[in-house]
Order: sequence, then C-alpha cells, then structure tokens
Amino acid sequence: MIKKFLKRVFSKSAKVKSVGNAQVIPFELHGVPREQISFGAKKVTDGLQAAGYQAYIVGGAVRDLLLDRIPKDFDVATDATPEEVKRVFRRSRIIGRRFRLVHVMFGEEVVEVSTFRSMIEAEDAETDEHGRLLRDNQFGDMEQDAARRDFTANALFYDPTTQEIHDYHRGYDDTRNHLLRMIGDPATRYREDPVRMLRAVRLSAKLGIKLDAATAAPIGKMKDLLDNVPEARLLDEVLKMLLSGHSVECIQHLRKMHLHHGLLPLLDVILEQPVGEKFVMLALRNTDERLSQEKPVSPAFLFAALLWHEVLAAWLQYQKQGERPIPAMHTAMDDVLAKQKKQLAIPHRHDAVMKEIWLMQIRFDQRSAQRPFRLLEQPRFRAGFDFLLLRCASGEVDQELGLWWDEFQDASAERRDEMLQPEGAGDKKRRRRKPRKKPAATNEPAA
Ligand code: ATP
Ligand code: MG
Repeated sequence: MIKKFLKRVFSKSAKVKSVGNAQVIPFELHGVPREQISFGAKKVTDGLQAAGYQAYIVGGAVRDLLLDRIPKDFDVATDATPEEVKRVFRRSRIIGRRFRLVHVMFGEEVVEVSTFRSMIEAEDAETDEHGRLLRDNQFGDMEQDAARRDFTANALFYDPTTQEIHDYHRGYDDTRNHLLRMIGDPATRYREDPVRMLRAVRLSAKLGIKLDAATAAPIGKMKDLLDNVPEARLLDEVLKMLLSGHSVECIQHLRKMHLHHGLLPLLDVILEQPVGEKFVMLALRNTDERLSQEKPVSPAFLFAALLWHEVLAAWLQYQKQGERPIPAMHTAMDDVLAKQKKQLAIPHRHDAVMKEIWLMQIRFDQRSAQRPFRLLEQPRFRAGFDFLLLRCASGEVDQELGLWWDEFQDASAERRDEMLQPEGAGDKKRRRRKPRKKPAATNEPAA
C-alpha cells in the first residue's frame, strides 16, 4: 500500500533517463526499495562496488520484486571476472567448468555471481546441426549480458545503491503490463536453446502473466527441437515445472501448446484415461498446495503418482496372465520404469522410493492380523498413506479404505483390535496381535 502510494506521489516528477541504449528507471517510478534485497546479495553488490566494479541484482529476483512476489534467490551480475570476485570475498568459491560462476557464502545464504557475458556473433557461434548453441561463455559488458538473456523481464539490472533499474529491452514496461516477451527473434532464440520454450510456459504459468503473441507463435512449430536437448536438462526443467507451485497451470499450458507430447510420453497416455487424468491432476494440485504452505514435497512421490496408472494397468495384466499379486507388481513396476527411462531419464535414485510407495498400495488392502501393524512401521508409511488418499479422492478406490487407515493410525490399542478385519481367504493364518503393553518401568538411572 505504502509503496503504491509513494509511487503515485513521486511518479509525477520522476522520469526515465536514457543512458546509451539503456533506459534507467528511478526508484520513484518502479518503487522497489533496496530493503527488499537479501542481506547477502546487498553485501555482494556493496563489496564489488567498493572494489571498483559494477554490480547489479539481475534475473528472476528483479522480475519477481516488480511483480510483488518474493524472489526465490538473488543473483548478481558484475564486470569483475570470477577470480576478481573471489579476491573480494573470502568465503566464496568458483563453480562450473564451462560456465564459471562464483558462489559467495553468507551463513545460510549463497549468492550466485556471474560475470557479464556476451552472445557469440552468429558466424563464430558453436552450434549443433539444428542451431543449438553449444557455448556462450565469452565475457562481455552489461548491454551484451542483457541481450543473451531470454525474456525482457529477466534482463533487468537493479543497483541497490542508486535503487535504479537499467533496462535495455523494455522489460520494465513488459513486466508492468504482465507480459512475458522474448528478447530478439523468438524463433532464433528457441533454435539456440529449445529449453526456452519450456521456460516460457513455466514462467508465464508461475507468474500468472501472459506470453506475448510473437513469443508464443513459433512454439507449436518448433517443439520437435526439444528432442535434441540432453535428457538431464529436460528433466531438470520438467521438475522445475512440477515443483513450481503452479504445476496444474503448467500442464494446462503445455497441453494447449501440444508441448507435452514426447516430454512425458506416458503423461499423454495417462491424461487420456478418465480415472488416470483425475488422479494425476489431484496429485499435482496437492503438490501445489503443499508448496504454497511451505511443506516439503518429494520428486519421487510425484513421479510415482504420474506413473501410477501405468503401473496399475500392467499389474492387472500380469495378474490376468496368472501371476500372483506381489510378483506381478514387481514385474509391472520394472516394466514401467524401464519404458519411462528411455524417454525421460528419471534418475535411478528415485526408483527405490517410488517402488516402496507402489508396493504399499497393495498392502493397504490387507487389514487383518499383524499386517496393518507392520505397514504402520514402514519408514515411508506417511507417503504411502498420502498416496492412498489421492487414489481415494480420484475414485479409484473406495473412500472407506482411506478413512479406515486414517483412524487406525491414531487409534488406541483396543480400538485397533476392534477395527481389524477377520482373516480373509488370501491371508495366511496368524495369531491376532495382543494389545501392546507399555514397556516396564525400570529403576535404573538414565544413561
Ligand atoms: P526462477 O524464478 O525459476 O529462478 P529465473 O528466471 O531466475 O526463474 P534461472 O534459471 O534462475 O531462472 O535463471 C536466471 C537468469 O538467467 C534468468 O532470469 C535469465 O536472465 C537467464 N537465463 C536462464 N536460463 C536461460 C536461457 N535458457 N536462455 C537465456 N537466458 C537464461
Ligand atoms: Mg533464479
């Protein structure tokens, strides 16, 4: 409120200055005070400027502040080389081999500092046969650094000392107009780096701003270029989408632009099944909500949800062929993971957790004798149970099952005993568990 009021009072007299090819927007117009810059980022720009270098806050942070959002992190751009940055800050290290950056540490906060870079001139550019840039690590000046960035909103340079924003591509006006616009010719920029198509979708969904028409237009025609992007980078970007807190909007945008084909091929199949689609969308919405409440979310849980209906179909198929439920589940899980891995390299490190979550789903049906007690002791019971609730909400299984487990978890020993179901035909005979006794008190002093 105060910010808006101040903006109105001052904006009458404040003017945009032109300095070279940049427009310099004063605080009185944009209204972002230096107090909104993190402690560490402010220390970095102060330190570099005191040592005689240029230093600005750049990228997503400036954009987010202009849109009244809290930035995830603050990046700094400077004309100092990585070695020079390192000399200014004792607690810092150079990272990356090809694209060298400096991480400066302030307690918990890590500020990423990059040296201004230039785009390599077209004739010298090292590209693959489709025009994808393989190198862009030549140092340059601030103007060149702005030009190599993707969207105009991402190419704003904020100086915490003067509180001015330097803008070479009308990014300030675009941001104010809630428009995401590619710098330069969109088709050329997508050819240089096809991942920019996914960034366009993710950032417009996450920020709730519109993709400029010329920026959106080539995407439909150029989406096949994503096939040439290394898998690890694709996965990184897909994960950023799924964990952006706006995954539902991202998926809707992807579908609208037909970008989800080939990206998550199994998602195609899943989204066409009525039960499967509901389940996937519920899982995504659930993730978005958890993120908005700052609760942790696990990529493995999300991948398990995305692939669940594939696993389920394969599981039923193997059982029809005469396999027993548990071995059928193992074969189904291995099949689905192998198939998915060829198209979208989900790292192996998630396999174990995904399998645990899937396997638990069969065990939720077993509500007699010792079995529910053993399931409760599983270290990942909570994830398995959350997954079960999604299945209930999507209509795949009866709500009653979710309610039963909800009660059973916190019930007293007596109530649990009452809740247990009689042993069914499929269950092995086991003695009913006796209510647990409290451990006997001892008189030994605590160690
Ligand atoms: P987020 O809020 O998700 O962090 P971001 O815009 O900060 O969004 P980063 O991946 O952190 O995204 O990138 C930081 C900055 O680097 C961007 O704002 C942009 O200026 C530049 N950048 C990142 N990826 C590209 C790309 N593929 N092509 C050109 N510039 C890029
Ligand atoms: Mg960022």
